[in-house]
Parts: sequence; structure tokens; C-alpha cells
Amino acid sequence: MNIILLGPPGAGKGTQSGLLVEHHGMVQLSTGDMLRAAVKAQTPVGVKAKSIMDRGELVSDEIVSALIDAELAAMGDDVGAIFDGYPRTEAQALALDELLGKHGRELAHVIELDVDEDALVERITGRFTCAECGEGYHDVFKQPRTPGKCDKCGSTEFKRRPDDNEETVRTRMREYRAKTAPILPLYEARGIVSRIDGMADIDDVTTRIEAILKA
Ligand code: AMP
Repeated sequence: MNIILLGPPGAGKGTQSGLLVEHHGMVQLSTGDMLRAAVKAQTPVGVKAKSIMDRGELVSDEIVSALIDAELAAMGDDVGAIFDGYPRTEAQALALDELLGKHGRELAHVIELDVDEDALVERITGRFTCAECGEGYHDVFKQPRTPGKCDKCGSTEFKRRPDDNEETVRTRMREYRAKTAPILPLYEARGIVSRIDGMADIDDVTTRIEAILKA
């Protein structure tokens, strides 16, 4: 089963994708994660993408679609894909249709996480992760049980994304409203869109997603 998780930055797409990977052995295809890895490795794509990402703007459609193409080519046919943060523009949505056809896959669901933008700014600017294992934390909502020590792996190193500051977050949200939200009607016309309250507790959101996948 292949699904798209759609929603503005901080809506919980990454968190929910992680849970689906854990529970169902699906594969998370996050173009944001792929681009961050490219930036870290200083590949030509990473070098090009870095300043665009730091500003909160969108990297070119060709670059992200090529990343998705490569990941789909490397994946086993029997494993479901969760598209997280892709597609983000109409051109990417059309490219994804082609890529799915090329790799013999069909899109089962587009799940939109509906959220309140002002609350999102608080959610995003407070988030940080364990530098070792990637476990997610938050200044207000989820501090490590022992201050300064990761619950999962015990590391004392944490990191924040450079684009998780208020100004960049506002730009990322504008980009979402202007370029990403308009692709929903394309999927609505196919009858595969479900809308979920993304401000609910993480567990409630997961339960609702599970129900959609089972339906
Ligand atoms: P994310 O982790 O999904 O919030 O993405 C972080 C940043 O990576 C975005 O603000 C964009 O600059 C870039 N990015 C990630 N995915 C895409 C995409 N599908 N299209 C264009 N830019 C992207």
C-alpha cells in the first residue's frame, strides 16, 4: 500500500510515518530527510539545496522527484511507501503519478493532517532530536525523562534543525498554502483523500490513520 501524508510543516507527518514504519514495515520516503542527508554529505544536490532550505523555500521539482525515483527503484516491490513531504507542488504530483506507474505502484490514500498554524509555530520551534538515534523531543511537550539524556539510547547530544526558527517556519507555511494545498483537489477528484485532526494527541492521530488504512 502506498500513501501520501500531507500537511504543513510540524503537522506530525514525520512522527506518524515513523510509527507506520514501526508497525507495518512500510518505508518512509521523506524528501526533507533525503535533502538533509545530501546537505550533510555535501553532495552537489546538497550544496545546491542548503541555502534554499535555510530560507524555507522549495527545492526544485526535478531534484526531489529524482530522489524519489531512486528510492522507489531501490525498494522491494512488496513494501509499502509513505510519501512524507512529497509531493509539494502540482508538478511533483504529476511526476509522482508517472513514477508510481513506472515502478508498478498505486496510490491508496492521501491523508491530510489538518492543523492550526499558530500552534504549529510553537510545536516546531520547540522541537529537537537526539543526535545519536533521532528520537524526537520538545521543549514544552516532551522533555527527556532524565534531563539532558535521551530516553531511548542514553546519548547526551541533541540537535535542532536550522530551519526550525520562527521566520523560516512562516515561509515554509506560506509555501505550503501557496503551492502544496492546491494539489489536494487532484486527489479529491480520485476519491482517495481523508482529513484528520492533526492537533489531536499523537496516539489518536495514529488510531485514525490505522482506521483509514484498514478501510
Ligand atoms: P521537511 O523536512 O519536509 O520540512 O523539508 C525541509 C525542507 O526541505 C523544505 O523546507 C524544503 O526546502 C525542502 N524540501 C523537502 N521536501 C521538498 C519537496 N518535496 N519539494 C521541494 N522542497 C522540499
